[in-house]
Amino acid sequence: MIQIAIVGGGAGGLELATALGRKLGRKGKARITLIDRNHTHIWKPLLHEVASGSLDAELDAVNYRVHAHRNGFAFELGTLCGVDRARKCIELDALVDDTGEEILPRREKHYDYLVLAIGSVSNDFNVSGVSEHCIFLDSPDQAQVFHQRLVDRFIRLDQALEAGQADRKLRIAIVGGGATGVELSAELFKAREWFSTYGLKTITPEHLEVSLVEAGPRLLPALNERISSGAHRELLKLGVKVRTATAVVSASREGLTTREGELIRADLMVWAAGVKAPGFLSAIDGLACNRMGQLLVEPTLQVQGDTDIYALGDCAGFAMEGPDDQQRWVPPRAQSAHQMADCVARNLRRRLAGKPEQAFVYKDMGSLVSLSEYSAFGRLMGGLARGGISLEGKVARLAYVSLYRMHQGAIHGWPRALMMAFTDKINHFIRPRFKLH
Ligand SMILES: Cc1cc2nc3c(=O)[nH]c(=O)nc-3n(C[C@H](O)[C@H](O)[C@H](O)COP(=O)(O)OP(=O)(O)OC[C@H]3O[C@@H](n4cnc5c(N)ncnc54)[C@H](O)[C@@H]3O)c2cc1C
Repeated sequence: MIQIAIVGGGAGGLELATALGRKLGRKGKARITLIDRNHTHIWKPLLHEVASGSLDAELDAVNYRVHAHRNGFAFELGTLCGVDRARKCIELDALVDDTGEEILPRREKHYDYLVLAIGSVSNDFNVSGVSEHCIFLDSPDQAQVFHQRLVDRFIRLDQALEAGQADRKLRIAIVGGGATGVELSAELFKAREWFSTYGLKTITPEHLEVSLVEAGPRLLPALNERISSGAHRELLKLGVKVRTATAVVSASREGLTTREGELIRADLMVWAAGVKAPGFLSAIDGLACNRMGQLLVEPTLQVQGDTDIYALGDCAGFAMEGPDDQQRWVPPRAQSAHQMADCVARNLRRRLAGKPEQAFVYKDMGSLVSLSEYSAFGRLMGGLARGGISLEGKVARLAYVSLYRMHQGAIHGWPRALMMAFTDKINHFIRPRFKLH
């Protein structure tokens, strides 16, 4: 039977495995295997909520094995570390437990068709001290590490304030004024409110200092000016110290140093200043990458130089023409991964049926930014919103939440996704509103 291996069960890979499992796997037309280094899936755009505590990753994650069983594909736990194109094999690293004992040895797996959907990692642009002192939000584990440190620091701060050290505060610096930095800044103020509600009553707004540092002239550089200035205004209202046109040249235990030599003191630092594809992709023999390390793909999403390997999502470099006739890359966003997963699913099915494959066309459906429960901004494109509609407040928040619901619809089917939405409403009253440990 034809073996289709999909590596990476994220925003794109899990949707693809689910679609192919249902259409091909269940009917015995191909064996679909999803490989991921984690046991569970959390939709990456929610990681800032895991970091703040408004989402409990342990309760909200999708277990790959259960999901695979329900949707006609197989799941294998493993970390991709190489591809042998000549022998059509992927190499998976040895799996060890936390005591260092081997669970599974380094191993190989054959494929007829391979789909690489391994996402991206934060780009520290080789700024000194960043990898040692800043936390990245690339994975649920990293988001949980941030959350744990946030909890510990709030508890320590509460005790110091109770002991009469009134001048103490928690200082958090976030580098990168894109969606991750903007959304996380607002989430931290919500976290402060919940910690205060749930017992740490000495901590008032002035005990939390959040600095959001952006090298460019404005926040959310990839979005339009209106969304950017709206988000900027709201963050200032919350009390975030927004610093645009501020380049960070190093990070240390004390904080961040700017190009002008100023030290932005911080107890916790997050680096969210851009992404690049995982480094080992550029080492795959004979495949070409762009400057972000993304694999260059043909219009059909097959990688350049190998028609049996596809790439999608953040790790795929798809060149398209921008409105000014300049070449642009499809942006590393959840909607790109979703649309590419649709295209690869269609093309693999056409290929097995002996039909020609179709070219991918990226449709920008707009952008939404949510400032926790305080506010939201966005612009929707396509469909009824032909020229684009700007949204703000509750409507924008609803549209933002519906993006996650659409991802749930794609992987669970609409009846189950609607039940999940309903259960979430009930849980709103039953569960604690915030994860405090
Ligand atoms: C905090 C945050 C907020 C964001 N907010 C938004 C937003 O509001 N809107 C938006 O459009 N986009 C947003 N994004 C970007 C969006 O999450 C990504 O563009 C999208 O998830 C990319 O999907 P993907 O399938 O390519 O990769 P991912 O969703 O990152 O999935 C990659 C998968 O590959 C697995 N993997 C990685 N390496 C290996 C390996 N070597 N072996 C095996 N498995 C591996 C990972 O475990 C993961 O499951 C946000 C990102 C972050 C971090």
